[in-house]
Amino acid sequence: MTLYDQSNRQSAPTIQLRLDRPTGNFWIDNGLVVLCSLMGEGEHPINEVLDAMLQRLVQKTGNKGFYFDERSGELREYEKVNWVYPTNLFIKVSGKSGKKIEIDGRKYPTQPPIFDLRLQLGKASEICDICGREGPTESAKMWMFPFVVDPDKFANFYPGVKQGLKLCPHCALAGLAGYLGWCWWAHGRDAIHIFVFHTDLHELKRLHREVLEPLKKESKGGNISIAFGGPYLHETTWGLLLELFSYVRSSEGLSRSAQKFLGELLGATPSPRMTPVTLYVITGVSGKAFNMQEFRSFSHLQSLYRLYEAWLQAIGSKSDNPHQSLVAVFRQFQTREGNEYNTIWREKVAWAILEFTDPLPYVESFLFDAKAKGKNPSPLAWGTEQVLELYTKEVLAMEETMLKVLSGFGHRLGTVSHEKNEMGLLYALRNAKNPEEFYRVLNDIQFRLELTVPEELLQISKGEKIAGSPWVRVKTLLSIYAMNTYLWRKQEQPQ
Ligand SMILES: [Zn+2]
Repeated sequence: MTLYDQSNRQSAPTIQLRLDRPTGNFWIDNGLVVLCSLMGEGEHPINEVLDAMLQRLVQKTGNKGFYFDERSGELREYEKVNWVYPTNLFIKVSGKSGKKIEIDGRKYPTQPPIFDLRLQLGKASEICDICGREGPTESAKMWMFPFVVDPDKFANFYPGVKQGLKLCPHCALAGLAGYLGWCWWAHGRDAIHIFVFHTDLHELKRLHREVLEPLKKESKGGNISIAFGGPYLHETTWGLLLELFSYVRSSEGLSRSAQKFLGELLGATPSPRMTPVTLYVITGVSGKAFNMQEFRSFSHLQSLYRLYEAWLQAIGSKSDNPHQSLVAVFRQFQTREGNEYNTIWREKVAWAILEFTDPLPYVESFLFDAKAKGKNPSPLAWGTEQVLELYTKEVLAMEETMLKVLSGFGHRLGTVSHEKNEMGLLYALRNAKNPEEFYRVLNDIQFRLELTVPEELLQISKGEKIAGSPWVRVKTLLSIYAMNTYLWRKQEQPQ
C-alpha cells in the first residue's frame, strides 16, 4: 500500500513505525503490529496513518439519511456510516455534520457527517507515559486507549493507569490501531475481546499474519472461530484456545510453516519458544458507554497445550476424532432454558482448567443438579471420565491407585443403586459435608446395597486426607462415577 506522499514530507508531522521498540503494553504493542503490517515499517505522516485506520474503522450501516445541500438548495440522500462493531462500543465520537438547517420543522445537517479523529498534540515537550519518548504529547482519550476512561474503575483492571495519561503520537496511533488487532466474540449484549499477545513484536507480527489472520472470519457474532462460547470470560477463552490448539496438529486451515510456528509458541515441539504467548481478555456489556466487567490475562498456554495433548492421547484410542470428542466434553456443561443456554457450569469448569484448580465440584453439581434432574436424564458426554481422571492425576496429583479404586467402586455403586432403585443414596453421598457424614453414607451403602466399601477409602489421615487427597475430592469423584454410571444404566434400561 502506498499512502506515502513525498510532497508533504517536509511539513507534515511524521512518526517512525518500528517493531524493535516494544512498550510491553499489550494494547499499544498489538496496535503497533497492526500499524507496521498495514503501513510498513518506516517513517509515515501522522495524518496518512490516521486516514488508513479510519478507512478500516468506519463502515456503512445500510441506513440512509438526508442532508441539505446549500449549493443546490435541495435535500440529498447519503449513506450513514458508523464505527465498526465492536469498536463502536468504545469509540463514541460521532460524525461531524456542521451546522443544521430547519426545513418543514425538521433539522437537517448541511453535509453528511464526517467520522474523523485528529491528534491535538501539545506544544511543550513531555514524556510519553507508555513508551518514554520525549516530545509533544496528548492526553489519552478513549479512542486511543480505552483504559483511561474511568481511571478509578479501570485502575482495578489495569494498574498503572492514572488520570491524564500522556501519549506521544506513536502510542496514540498504535492505541487506535489496537482496535483492529483483537479477536472478539459477542453474545447478545455481552462482548468478549481477546488479545493474543507476545512481547517480541516480530513474533507477534508473524503470529497475526500467519496464524490469526487466516483464522479470522467476517461474522456478526465474532471475528474468529471458537470451539464454543457464551456470555462468560473463561468458557469463551477456553473455546478459543481449544480451537487454536487444534491447528497445531491439523493439516487444514494453516500453512505448514504457520502450523510449526504455532506449535513452537505453544511448546508442542522439542524446541519451544522461550517467551510464551499471553492472552489478555476483556469482557463487558454494551450500553451508552462500554461497561467493562472483567479483565484477565492467561500466560500458561504451554502447560495448557501439554494437557490438551495428553487428553487427546487419553481418549484417542477409542475415538475417530479425539479433538471433537474433547470439545464435546467441555461443551456439554450447559442447560437449555427457554431459547437460551445457561452456561454457568461451563464457565466454572473452564475457569478451573485455566487456573489449574479443581473442576470436580462443578462437574458434580452439573451432573446432580442439571443432568440427573433434567427432563430426560442422561449421563455425561462420552470421554468425560477419562478427561477428569487425567486432570485429577496430572494437575491435582491424586494417586493413580486411588483413582482406580474410586472408578471401580463408583461404577459398581452406580450399577447396584440403579438395580435397587436407590438414587437417594447417591444424593446423600453428594451432600456429605464432612468426613463423618461421608463415612455414615458409606456405611449405609454397605448395609443397604450389600456392597463392600474398599479399605483404601476408610483410611483418613491428618488434615482429613485420604491417600494424600482432601477427603472431599475423594467423595466428589466417587459421586461423579456413581451417578454417571447410574444414568448410563437408566438410559440402557428405562424403568
Ligand atoms: Zn509513546
